[in-house]
Amino acid sequence: VQLQQISNDKINDNNNLKNQLEIPKEIPKEIKLQKESLPVFTAKDALLKNFKEHSTVIIISETGTGKTTQIPQYLYENGYKDNGIIAITQPRRVAAVSISKRVSQEMGVELGDQVGYCVRFDDKTNEKTKLKYMTDGMLVREAMLDSSLSKYSVIILDEAHERTLNTDVLFGLLKSIQKRREKKNPLKIIIMSATLDAELFSQYFNNAPVLYIEGRQFPVQIYYTEEIQKDYVDAALITVLQIHIAHLTDKSINKEEEEDGGDILVFLTGRDEIENLEKLLLDRIPRLPVGSKDLIVCPIFSALPQEQQMKVFEKAPKGSRKVILATNIAETSLTINGIRYVVDSGAVKSKIFNPKIGIDSLNIIPISKASAKQRTGRAGREFEGKCYRLYTQETFEKLDTSSIPEIKRSNIANVILQLKTIGINDILSFDFLESPPVASVIKSLELLFCLDAISDNGSLTELGKKMALFPLDPMYSKTLIKSIEFECSEEVLIIISILSVESIFFTPKEKKKEVEDVKKIFFSPDGDHITFLNVFREFQKSKPQQQQQWCFDHFINLKSMIKVLNVFEQLVKYCISLKLPIVSCGSDFDRIKKSFIGGFFLNTAILQPDKKYKTMVDNKEIQIHPTSFLFDQKPQHILYNELTITTKAFARNIIPIEGSWLAEICPKYYGTRLTKQQQQQQQQNSIQSIDTFKN
Ligand code: ADP
Ligand code: MG
Repeated sequence: VQLQQISNDKINDNNNLKNQLEIPKEIPKEIKLQKESLPVFTAKDALLKNFKEHSTVIIISETGTGKTTQIPQYLYENGYKDNGIIAITQPRRVAAVSISKRVSQEMGVELGDQVGYCVRFDDKTNEKTKLKYMTDGMLVREAMLDSSLSKYSVIILDEAHERTLNTDVLFGLLKSIQKRREKKNPLKIIIMSATLDAELFSQYFNNAPVLYIEGRQFPVQIYYTEEIQKDYVDAALITVLQIHIAHLTDKSINKEEEEDGGDILVFLTGRDEIENLEKLLLDRIPRLPVGSKDLIVCPIFSALPQEQQMKVFEKAPKGSRKVILATNIAETSLTINGIRYVVDSGAVKSKIFNPKIGIDSLNIIPISKASAKQRTGRAGREFEGKCYRLYTQETFEKLDTSSIPEIKRSNIANVILQLKTIGINDILSFDFLESPPVASVIKSLELLFCLDAISDNGSLTELGKKMALFPLDPMYSKTLIKSIEFECSEEVLIIISILSVESIFFTPKEKKKEVEDVKKIFFSPDGDHITFLNVFREFQKSKPQQQQQWCFDHFINLKSMIKVLNVFEQLVKYCISLKLPIVSCGSDFDRIKKSFIGGFFLNTAILQPDKKYKTMVDNKEIQIHPTSFLFDQKPQHILYNELTITTKAFARNIIPIEGSWLAEICPKYYGTRLTKQQQQQQQQNSIQSIDTFKN
C-alpha cells in the first residue's frame, strides 16, 4: 500500500509539472502521418499566403479534405492566435464537439484548454482556449453581448454551403463588424464550403478570393431501385444485409480490400428511424448465414451520448464490419473513414415555416440532387465504392437541384429578436446574403407582437429584452416569463430543461412491455409535461449514490437526467441574474398549463368526432404521437410543443388545456378571433400594417 501511495504521488507531481509548463503530450507518429496525407496539407503555404494578403478568404473543397480539422491548426501555428481567439462555427453541435475533441488529440492538448468547444448549455473552453469550435447559434448569441466580437482575431464560417439560418445571420453581422474593426482590431473572415457555388459568397464579400483545394474522389457506382419504395427503413434493412453477405456468393468481391475498409453508411432522417433500423438489424444479426462477418451497428444523432457518438470513428476489429446509421450529419459535417458503401434513403428532416399561420413543423422531405451527390461521395473517399439509392432514377431526376436555404423557409422570430437586441431594428433592410421572404418577416413580427416581445411600432419591449437573453426560442422564453406571473417558474424551468434533451426515457429493444408498465408509475392525466415533472421529482428524491440504480430500474437515461440537471442549473442562473423569482406551484398544474399557453398559443388543437384533432389556427388534421402519454386519453383541447409531418402530422409533448383559457391569456390573438371571416380580415390588416412593423 505504501509503495502504491508513493508512485501515485509521483505521477501527480509529474502531471502538475506538465500542466505548469504546458508541455503538449507526445503526438503519435500515425497522427502526424495522417495529417500530412490530407489533401489540404499540400495547400498549406498557399492558404497562409492568402490569409496574410486578404481580410476575407473563401475556401472550397470536397468533404474529407481536412478543412475543418487542419486549417484552424495552421492559423494557430502561424501567429493568428496572438491577437485573439480563432473561432470555427459549425451548424451542428455534434460536429463542434467531436471535431474539437479530435483536434485536441492531434495537438496533444487537453480538450477544454487550448482547444475547446462551446454549444448551447455546454461550454468547454477556458482562458487558455485559442481554437474554439462552436455552433453558429452560439456566436450569434455572443454578438448580442459584444457587438464587435472583439475577442476573436479570426472567424471561420464552416459548412457555409448548408446555409443554416444562424450562418446566414453571421454573414451579415461579420461583414459589418469587419468594416467597423478595420482600423483598430482587424477581423479575418474565412468561409469554408463543400460545394462549388462560391460566387454568391465572393460577391457578397466584395469579390474575396476563392481558393479551390482538390480533394480525392474515387469512382462510385450508383444503383437505383426499380420501384418506388414505400418504406425506406425496411428497404435499408434489406440492402444492408445484402451488402453484408454479398461476399459469400459474389466471388468478384476482393475480401482483402474489404478488410481494410468495407463499412456501410446509411442516411436516415432522425432518431426514430435510426433506432428502428438498429433494432431490426440487431434482431437479424444472430440469424446471419454461417461465414458472415460480425456486423457492428453504430448509430449517430445529436441526442446520443458523446462516448457513443465517438464510436463511429473507431475502426471495426478485423473480421467485422461497421454499419453506421446517421442523419445528414454525416453528409458533409463529419468525415468517417473506412466507408465503402452508402445507402441513401433520399429523405431529410427539415424545419418548415408556414407563413400563413406562423408555425414551424418538422417535415420529412426529399433531398436535393446536391445532397444526393454529397451522400454518394462519402463512399469514394478512400477507395472505389458503391452507393445504393433507395429511390428510382426517375425520382432522382425530379429532385430539386439544391436545397432551399433555411432563411427562406423558416420562422425568423428568434433572429429578429436577436438582431433587435444587437441594435439592428430594420430587419427588411439588413444586409442579408439572401433576404428572407417578406411574408415570413411579417408573420414573425406578428408572433413577437403577440408574445409581447415587441410593441406595435416594432421596438423591443422590456419583456422582449429579457426574452432575448435566454438561450431559448422565443416561445419557450415567453413560457418561462409567463410562469413567473403564474407562480410556477420552478416547475416550468424543470420541464423546459427536460424538453431540451429530447428524451429522458431509455427503451431497451427487448423490454418494451416492461418499460410501458414502469412508465405508468409517472403518468399524469395532466399531460406529458407533468409526467416528465413526476420523473424529475422522483429522481431528485433518490440519493446521488442510488441514482444510477434508480434510473436503471425505471428505464430512465441517467446521462440525459444529468444533462437535464445541468441545463436546469444554468437556466436558474439566468433567472437569478435577471432577478426573476423561482417559485413552486405545488400541485396546482393549471398554472403550468397556462404558462405554456403564453408561449405556445399557436400550437393548439381541438378533438373531432372521429377522434382526430384539428389545429385551431388553420383547421388542419393532426394526431397525437403514439409516444405521448395522452395517446389514449384524447382530451378536448390540447397544446403541443412540436409538430412532425411525415405521411401524417403528429403532435408531440402534449398538455390538455381549457379552451376558455386561450382568450384569457392571449387576448391579442384569441380575443378578436371569433369567426373565420374576421380572421381573414385580420390577416388582410396585418399585411397592410407592414409599414408599422418596418421600423
Ligand atoms: P473536411 O472539413 O474537409 O470535410 P475534416 O477536417 O473534417 O475534413 O476531416 C479530415 C480527416 O480527419 C478525415 O480523414 C477524418 O476522417 C479525420 N477525422 C475527423 N474526426 C475524427 C475523429 N474523431 N477520429 C478520427 N479521425 C477523424
Ligand atoms: Mg468540414
